[in-house]
Amino acid sequence: MNKGITSRITLNLIAGIVITVVTVVVAIFWMAARQNDQAAKSTETMVVGGVEAMVRRVNGLANDYAWWQDFYDAYVTRDDEWMRTNIESSVAETEIADIMAVVSPAGDIDYAYVLGDELTADKILPPTVIQGIDKLAEGMPIENFAARSAFLDVDGTIMLIAVSRVTPVYEEDKQDPAKLPFFVVGITLNEDALLDLGRSFLIDDLHIELAGDPNQAAFPDAPPIVDIFGNTIGHFVWTPPTPGYAVLRNVLLPITIALALFCVVAFTTAFRARRIAIALSDSEKEAVIAARTDSMTALMNRTGFTELLESSAYEQACANGKLAIIYMDINGFKAVNDSIGHHGGDELVKALARRVTGALPDDATFARIGGDEFAVAITGDSVRETTASAAADVVGCLDQPFTVHGFEFHVSVAVGYAVAGGTGLTSSEIVRRADIAMYHAKNGAEREAVLYNSTMETGALEKKQIETSLRRAIDLGDLQVFYQPVVRASDLAVVGMEALLRWTSKELGTVSPATFIPVAEETGLIHDIGRFVVDRVCKDASNWPGMKMAINLSPVQLRDPDFATGLLEAVRSHGLEPSRFELELTEGILVNNPTIAKRKLAKLKEMGFTLSLDDFGTGFSSIGYLRQFPFDILKVDRSFVRDIGLNATANALIQSLVSLGDAMNLSVIAEGIENEDQLKLLRLVQCEYVQGYLISRPIPGEQITDLLEKAGEQRRLVLGARDDREAVAR
Ligand code: C2E
Ligand code: MG
Ligand code: MG
Repeated sequence: MNKGITSRITLNLIAGIVITVVTVVVAIFWMAARQNDQAAKSTETMVVGGVEAMVRRVNGLANDYAWWQDFYDAYVTRDDEWMRTNIESSVAETEIADIMAVVSPAGDIDYAYVLGDELTADKILPPTVIQGIDKLAEGMPIENFAARSAFLDVDGTIMLIAVSRVTPVYEEDKQDPAKLPFFVVGITLNEDALLDLGRSFLIDDLHIELAGDPNQAAFPDAPPIVDIFGNTIGHFVWTPPTPGYAVLRNVLLPITIALALFCVVAFTTAFRARRIAIALSDSEKEAVIAARTDSMTALMNRTGFTELLESSAYEQACANGKLAIIYMDINGFKAVNDSIGHHGGDELVKALARRVTGALPDDATFARIGGDEFAVAITGDSVRETTASAAADVVGCLDQPFTVHGFEFHVSVAVGYAVAGGTGLTSSEIVRRADIAMYHAKNGAEREAVLYNSTMETGALEKKQIETSLRRAIDLGDLQVFYQPVVRASDLAVVGMEALLRWTSKELGTVSPATFIPVAEETGLIHDIGRFVVDRVCKDASNWPGMKMAINLSPVQLRDPDFATGLLEAVRSHGLEPSRFELELTEGILVNNPTIAKRKLAKLKEMGFTLSLDDFGTGFSSIGYLRQFPFDILKVDRSFVRDIGLNATANALIQSLVSLGDAMNLSVIAEGIENEDQLKLLRLVQCEYVQGYLISRPIPGEQITDLLEKAGEQRRLVLGARDDREAVAR
């Protein structure tokens, strides 16, 4: 886990906590505000309802009084006493209205009672009220409940007045509009009245803000008071209740405490989570390092080393020719382990790692990549020189013995190294090359670091090189034919010799035919080579009359339809008979296409060539082949001869092979005899001919001439002279 993820987790947790707290606070305030809104709306409904009830009450009063026979009678009779008892007392005593007045149909004020400091009955009403009455009375029908009411601004005080017609209920004949006076009821919406009204809805400050006051604030939402003329003369204004805030005030403390507690717990959890994440991340880092470290030596291990080399910096250095790798392997480490135990072996590895570390440049990367294998990566401009001297230092630093568990050990290390060389190679290729160089160092006699070179390669690269060099060798005549004598087992008389190719290349050194013949076969060069060998053998054959000349043939050569005729022509052109020649073939030719092979071999046989089956016993070795094909000679492979005398099976095997040859009427040649015991046994089992280092190594033609000369007329070789011949051959 990296640092980025750790802090992201922490930030997310903190963000979560903050969001939770903000959400809770906002939700609480929102709920309080909504509750306040609802309360404001319902108080408005109540205020408006209260005002409407007041209007209804005033209208009701006006209706009740006016639709009254007695009232009409008293008016008509001007019964002041009745007026005082019933009307004035309603104002003065019961105070059910502030104004009660009776106005004649003509508009004269007949009675007027106005509640004040002292009740007035001066038949005086404020002009605004008079105007209001006129307006309300206009066209009023004669019927019960016809009272009309309106708000008026009476000198800065809002007044609600209701007007109705005083009607003789039982005397329809007198119900003439022109004769019926008007009854006026008025109530003043003064401070006390409004406070009374407000309190019934739990409003303390219901009041009226008059219109037209320049200092007055606008009350767009407050219920308006509209007068009879359609003018807004004021508004009902009050402070709306805030039950939400009231609740909020009550719950604020517990909620704050709860939130604070939540924050404490949440932050503690967040920071603990962060600490755990950091600890995890640290231990993950440690695990990553551990996975790349060798626990015994604390050096980098193979995984670490491979990853390092695959990093872009090292690949870059490699591509620019600035990387070198040293590979080393402790020689005979197993023997050390066996003698002082694994624990001792571990101690030795540790001590060696310390000493080698000291011998390396400071910026080199030293890794243990196997039990007893180490590698070093070196980069830089002068990497070739640095690495050469570092590799030499590594070898040198091991001159002194190690002491482990009281024992002294001389440890040698095979050291190989390879340098990138600016050819765009990958680092793994350099490692591979250093490894190859290390193997060469292991096999070499000298205790020195070995620098990789391409001749160390086996495989595709080598094939290409062999092909190129081989082409040149054919052109320049660099190939040589050596001869190995074939002798009769009983008396060592030389009966013939096998032609074997030899090639010493300038670039590649000595290359065995076992290596280059397969390449020649693959590339088709075998045809040229084959012609060269035949030509050379024919030339030499004339020097050694009577000698059977054995020539190895490749199956590829036989595939050439003109091969047999070409061979015959070549032999004849040297004035020689095919009977002088023995053609050695391996089983390979027989297996692939037996019918064609049979025809071809028959043709060669017909021409007079002797045919031998080479390396018998290594391939399929079917006895059927021997019967089917016209072979004359059976060459028993060296692998059967090698074990002669070492075990009973080997002896029995060679014996049965010889018997098989006899039974099939074939001559038997045993290849590769190297000691006299083998010769003895072959004589015992009556193997007719032998060939091998014991008699002679393959040697140049001139030496064969010497050999034959020394052998005398009988051509019998003497084994004692072998050493000189071997020395020459080598
Ligand atoms: P081969 O035909 O079986 O040749 C015998 C090989 O055994 C030779 O190896 C020879 O040097 C080796 N040899 C002989 N006596 C002894 C002995 O006592 N001990 C040991 N250890 N080895 C012994 P060489 O010369 O390296 O040739 C290897 C193979 O290459 C030959 O096996 C043959 O198959 C092929 N070869 C050689 N020359 C030619 C050639 O001119 N044409 C073709 N087509 N193949 C050739
Ligand atoms: Mg051979
Ligand atoms: Mg052979």
